[in-house]
Amino acid sequence: MDGIVIIGAGECGTRAAFTLREAGYSGSVTLVGSEPHLPYERPPLSKPMNGAVQMKLICAAEALEAAGIDYLAGLSASKLNADAGTVTLSDGRVLRFEKLLLATGARPRRLTCAGAELALDLRTHADAEAIFSSVAAGLRVAVIGGGLIGMELASVLRGKDAAVNVIEAAPKPLGRAVPQRFAEKLHARHVAEGVRFHLDRGVVAIGDEGVTLTDGSMVPADLVVSAIGVLPETTLAEAAGLATGNGIQTDACLRTSAPNVFAAGDCAAVAQPGGGLIRYESWRNARTQAETAARNMAGAAETFTAIPWFWSDQYDLGLQVAGLPKPAHQRVLRSAAGGELEFYLDDGRLVAAAGLGIGNSLAKEIKLAEMLIAAAASPDPAALTDPGVNLKTLLKSARAETFTCR
Ligand code: FAD
Ligand code: NAP
Repeated sequence: MDGIVIIGAGECGTRAAFTLREAGYSGSVTLVGSEPHLPYERPPLSKPMNGAVQMKLICAAEALEAAGIDYLAGLSASKLNADAGTVTLSDGRVLRFEKLLLATGARPRRLTCAGAELALDLRTHADAEAIFSSVAAGLRVAVIGGGLIGMELASVLRGKDAAVNVIEAAPKPLGRAVPQRFAEKLHARHVAEGVRFHLDRGVVAIGDEGVTLTDGSMVPADLVVSAIGVLPETTLAEAAGLATGNGIQTDACLRTSAPNVFAAGDCAAVAQPGGGLIRYESWRNARTQAETAARNMAGAAETFTAIPWFWSDQYDLGLQVAGLPKPAHQRVLRSAAGGELEFYLDDGRLVAAAGLGIGNSLAKEIKLAEMLIAAAASPDPAALTDPGVNLKTLLKSARAETFTCR
């Protein structure tokens, strides 16, 4: 037996390797990662503590060894032959596999303007070191992109007394994944903290003096960071002839168009029950897809059904979003100690929830909301909005109703 090879040693690839063992897989497991370090978590990179960039390891070398996972660091997979069951690495060696997981993640989208090469990215530990090593009070930083990375970075930089300008192509920051109410609140908080926004404007050029915008204005900057989104890393899969689009396409069991190759995490575009494909870019998704893909590689046939969830920390505020809120949903607001929650109903059924509050203060409510979503609950909006009604009570009734229906 040739065993299982995993390409990409980020959150997804590493979690998959350990899940294979937890699922009882006893064949060889090889984890190949192009970065030189032990596998590490990305979220802390935009949330440095006490000014220092963290290297939060996903696992120690001893844990990899104890689980019998052969970790090949600093090597890239350069060629995949799914029919032959082989993958070629950057040092020329060829690994044979029975099954392979593509967990190649995503790479920063690059600016195409003049001087684009002067802008730093924030994806890897090396990127974070490059950015934060030069930051000091008074440094003028231009952050291009008002998405999750741009806004998290802006909050950290203000904490270091840097002068921060955020340049965003859309009319509002955080327009992609954050519900409008909380995007507006976070925007207002950034303004109150002294961040200057240049909205609805693109970038024409980056030079030694700063960034020239499409309206002709110039944002003076000593340091420019580009945070304009990511592209799924599909190079290997595409060259191997696998089906790709906005990601490596998989069925609901995370199998690609090649029967012995699976894909999961930021790189995977996964078939949905109602049709279409969705690619998520979040830490928990990388873990939960890894677990499903690994169990399926070990012989199960599970469909991936986890509810999407992500968090973001900006200043002392913590945002959490469960499910996929859409503008067409009915919105129900609820105040809570330390912040507020918003629930999203589709035809009466709870499909998503979000909360913005001090630190982690709303974690318990969001967890209960996730359980309500999983229970396919249709709670009374009046009860949802009333902080006096415990969400646990609504969950109990939803579960009792499901039980009665059976
Ligand atoms: P990745 O983490 O991208 O890992 C893929 C790995 O594969 C990389 O190490 C890459 O080098 C390697 N690779 C690629 N191609 C090859 C190849 N051919 N051969 C070998 N190796 C290869 N999410 C949240 O939910 N909350 C947060 O607060 C949050 N904060 C974030 C902050 C930052 C700064 C960043 C960058 C991301 C953040 N995310 C957050 C997103 C989250 O980290 C990602 O969704 C998650 O890391 C995806 O994991 P992954 O393993 O699929 O991909
Ligand atoms: P992002 O959230 O997609 O945001 C990118 C932003 O840049 C968007 O608002 C985009 O606008 C804007 N933009 C695109 N091109 C631009 C241009 N030329 N000039 C100015 N603005 C431009 O991506 P990100 O913030 O770079 O984050 C990258 C990845 O890390 C994502 O996968 C993200 O989910 C992940 N991440 C997650 C968290 C979290 O969950 N807390 C935190 C950090 C990072 P349009 O939408 O209009 O294109």
